[in-house]
Amino acid sequence: MATDELNAHADLSALRDAVSGCTRCPLHATRTQAVFGSGSPDADLMFVGEAPGFHEDKQGVPFVGAAGQLLGKLLNGIGLQREDVYIANVLKCRPPGNRDPQPEEIEACEGHLFKQIELIRPKVVATLGNFATKLLSGKPLGITRVHGQEQTVTLGGSRVVLYPLFHPAAALYTPRMLEVLESDFSRLPELLGRSVAPPPPVPAVRVAVVPEAAPVPAEPVQLGLF
Ligand code: SF4
Repeated sequence: MATDELNAHADLSALRDAVSGCTRCPLHATRTQAVFGSGSPDADLMFVGEAPGFHEDKQGVPFVGAAGQLLGKLLNGIGLQREDVYIANVLKCRPPGNRDPQPEEIEACEGHLFKQIELIRPKVVATLGNFATKLLSGKPLGITRVHGQEQTVTLGGSRVVLYPLFHPAAALYTPRMLEVLESDFSRLPELLGRSVAPPPPVPAVRVAVVPEAAPVPAEPVQLGLF
């Protein structure tokens, strides 16, 4: 492994430690633990969601509830595993009751995310939902307007392809949105510049996921995801 890579891994580990003790905003007082991110520190593809939910706060890992299961299935559909990508959120600590992130919380926390992107240096950053899309695009346009439309931006000092997607939590409860998410997702291999296995039949995702949504009452759908 090159020295630069080793240094980046060490810096990412140090950042994780710093975030675990972060008190920059009031959310530190109500969290079980900070949820820094998970996956490959060398990933070409990085996902950025909104904030930890109930299950993420308990386990310390992003996207572990029903929305995370859907994300995993969508990844499998394009020939990737969770371990191949990096998954993080705009906020590292759970907003009480899964409410929307507040502007001052995003402002306090965004430096952690920008540093993560700088150290991971992904080729493609896929934003999941409104909050990540608006923050990383620097534009106020909502996800309904811009999903599936890639743009090149500078993040963490590097040029990356920013690719907005609907949040999987929103797609869990809206079949039409799931279809759009699946369609947008299918373009990720092209954006990554390499070919991967073709996706499995669409019903395999829909049938497996919808029944799992019901037992997760602690993760209410947030209007901000749309
Ligand atoms: Fe720090 Fe971000 Fe957690 Fe606020 S949400 S305490 S800024 S890590």
